[in-house]
Amino acid sequence: MDILNLLFPSTCPVCGNESDRHRYNPFCENCWNGIERYDGPACPTCGMPAVSAHARHCESCLKAPPPYSRIIYYGIYDGALRKAIHLLKFNGLKRLALPVAMLISELALPEADGIVPVPLHHGRLREREFNQTALIGRHISRASGIPLLLDVLKKEKETPAQINVTGKERLKNVKNAFSAIKAVNGLRLLLVDDVITTGATVHECARVLVNEGAKAVTVVALARSLPKYL
Ligand SMILES: [Zn+2]
Ligand SMILES: [Zn+2]
Repeated sequence: MDILNLLFPSTCPVCGNESDRHRYNPFCENCWNGIERYDGPACPTCGMPAVSAHARHCESCLKAPPPYSRIIYYGIYDGALRKAIHLLKFNGLKRLALPVAMLISELALPEADGIVPVPLHHGRLREREFNQTALIGRHISRASGIPLLLDVLKKEKETPAQINVTGKERLKNVKNAFSAIKAVNGLRLLLVDDVITTGATVHECARVLVNEGAKAVTVVALARSLPKYL
């Protein structure tokens, strides 16, 4: 087997056909272009997909407005986009960070003074060796010219795996798991995450950033998972 093929697998992970531009992206052009941007009805604040086109704010944002201005994301956590996030996050296919960051760059991002990736706890970082949101953030920073702020937000403690828990429990699990520094005072920030599930993590990150004086926090993510009722 060609050594380059080990380093740069040339088979598309979705369709199994040979990838046409595998040094840049292992997905074939056809499968990559099949990743759709979500433009259906959604809560204007948290981006939660809604059943009705006439839906305004979701119940949870109405009850308690979140500390972030809004969540912007590219697509639904499914199909090729889900596969890409998995390959980047769990299989260490770091070069996927660039093409996925380019998807985020296609979105209409607000003016900002800094890009803040959702951090990993240092124990998890040692295990995984890289933080995928920091890699994505770096590419968005290069494309937009907005500075990357790596040291303003820190994850202080490891949180339990957030599978099969409700939004409320998740929020409890991440409570006080993050800390921010005063240097964010007065800044408009883009908080970068890969997947939004219940939104508890970005909610807590935005809360501590705003607590330290951040003027506005807009969450930008690659994907959002669909709520169970859809
Ligand atoms: Zn393909
Ligand atoms: Zn909402």
